[in-house]
Amino acid sequence: KPVLNRAQFHTSVAQLRDLPYSRAEVAFAGRSNAGKSSAINLLTRKNRLAFTSKTPGRTQLINFFVLEPDTYLVDLPGYGYAKVPPEVKAKWEGLLSRYLQGREALVGMVLIMDARHPLTPLDRQMLEWFAPTGKPVHILLSKADKLSNNEKALTLRRVKAELAEQTNVSVQLFSSLSRLGADEAAALIEHWLSA
Ligand code: GDP
Repeated sequence: KPVLNRAQFHTSVAQLRDLPYSRAEVAFAGRSNAGKSSAINLLTRKNRLAFTSKTPGRTQLINFFVLEPDTYLVDLPGYGYAKVPPEVKAKWEGLLSRYLQGREALVGMVLIMDARHPLTPLDRQMLEWFAPTGKPVHILLSKADKLSNNEKALTLRRVKAELAEQTNVSVQLFSSLSRLGADEAAALIEHWLSA
């Protein structure tokens, strides 16, 4: 039975030692403004759910949404702000890399990239941190509605080619506006959580 549509805000965490007990969780990551909140809202069918993560004081935290007991959707802090003080960046890097590499309950990462600017250095950094776990990554090329059909096909082909060496990475086009790819993404996440 589907669980994404049952999402409810659970807690915000600033340090790894505060992570809740979890049996299985899927993490959403992406540059700020890539469309992560819109994607979470669409996939959970909760219009304003992920905007909770954007309320003042929560943007640098790991936000947990409970799907069923001990099962979570995890909204990781958006990255790539133009001007972040070095100490904030270092803290973010420490938190994210240790979470991605050490979190046993994490079953997969959904990485949201603006289809017009995919695979930025920080996106690659996220992939690099996660690769040693051998767990799957699913990339959503978001805002695909802004591309022509020709550009969509080209972008998808280019990103797939760039990641050809990586195992356990899948890619799809996605649009929160047109719902393009929403069913495909939801089905994969449900599959990860039920396996
Ligand atoms: P986040 O910072 O990654 O959580 O990004 P948001 O979900 O807040 O989206 C950032 C901006 O992009 C907002 O103005 C959204 O309305 C817009 N946006 C998000 N998803 C889409 C999409 O699929 N298509 C279009 N055209 N705009 C989108």
